[in-house]
Amino acid sequence: MNDRRHNFNAGPAALPLEVLRQAQEEFVNCGGAGMSVMEMSHRSAAYERINDETQSLMRELLNIPDRYHVLFLQGGASTQFAMVPLNLLTAGTVAAYIETGSWSTKALKEAKIVGEAVVAATSKPDEFRRMPDVSDLAIPERAAYVHITSNETIQGTQFKSFPDTGDVPLVADMSSDIMSRPIDVSKFGIIYAGAQKNLGPSGVTVVIIRDDLVGRAPEHVPTMLRYETHVKDRSLYNTPPTFSVYMMGLVLKWIKAKGGVAAIEKENAEKAALIYDEIDRSGGFYVGFAHPDFRSPMNITFRIANEELEPLFVKESEKEGFVGLKGHRSVGGLRASAYNAVPLESCRALAEFMADFRRRHG
Ligand SMILES: *Cc1c(COP(=O)(O)O)cnc(C)c1O
Repeated sequence: MNDRRHNFNAGPAALPLEVLRQAQEEFVNCGGAGMSVMEMSHRSAAYERINDETQSLMRELLNIPDRYHVLFLQGGASTQFAMVPLNLLTAGTVAAYIETGSWSTKALKEAKIVGEAVVAATSKPDEFRRMPDVSDLAIPERAAYVHITSNETIQGTQFKSFPDTGDVPLVADMSSDIMSRPIDVSKFGIIYAGAQKNLGPSGVTVVIIRDDLVGRAPEHVPTMLRYETHVKDRSLYNTPPTFSVYMMGLVLKWIKAKGGVAAIEKENAEKAALIYDEIDRSGGFYVGFAHPDFRSPMNITFRIANEELEPLFVKESEKEGFVGLKGHRSVGGLRASAYNAVPLESCRALAEFMADFRRRHG
């Protein structure tokens, strides 16, 4: 355990040590099958069990109503940027995007390749330091859907409440905060998330889709990119990322054992507060990037007022056993990603390191 780092990577990110240990134990003989999960046929009863169980856990933990399907796909959240418009943005309709940072901008770009897409609200004039007011959205007529990014991983901002889009389906990229807090799934048409931040290793993307949104893709959309293909075959149309789904199942069991999503939310708030408190009490030595009302508990973004100290901060932190604290290359600065699996002790250690660094260099 002592050779494990304090892992603040943005994704792929920390996994629970208990989960890694269990996977290690089952690595060559999974559940008594006499083989690893990677060697099983995806058509075998043993793998079907893993697929079904992981799906049930997802439903249970997020309280997903029956009229939604839970899919395990490949291609990452980035493929969903295209798959959502390919399936929903049909002729004569327009897609409305809430522009809040790097990831929503990428999602919008893909939608524009597919069809007509507009920005319904933006926080670009505020350098994406906050989420825009979505309490009274101007949703265009003919809107096929409204798209939001619940948590902007690079800017470190999070929506604290979601817009009411009436009959227009709300589509959310929740890649960096799924399972970190309870959500009301019934408010959404589609929720998607790459697993590698909060749910498991990379390689699997979770899509939660309301039944009436399945089967809308125009004829020219290829089979693999149509939601109904994966609904019909319960995510087993082609070879699924079996090891990733298995690992995700173990992570979901770990979340359940910790008391579910509400308990996780409480711990996440505690973890993030340790670091934000140090920023706030630093007397301007550290400067948070996000407006306090929209601070993400998942991705804590900040700068050192004297930016020249940032490379030294990263270097010293690495010597002390921390990884992943350099900000995204597109925005610079520093970032600590404290996803579900990052232990409270790591956040406490980071807050202490930050205070110590401030005392030595302030
Ligand atoms: C990481 C991330 C993505 C990209 O995910 P991939 O699985 O690498 O395609 C998209 N959206 C958000 C919010 C992310 O954090």
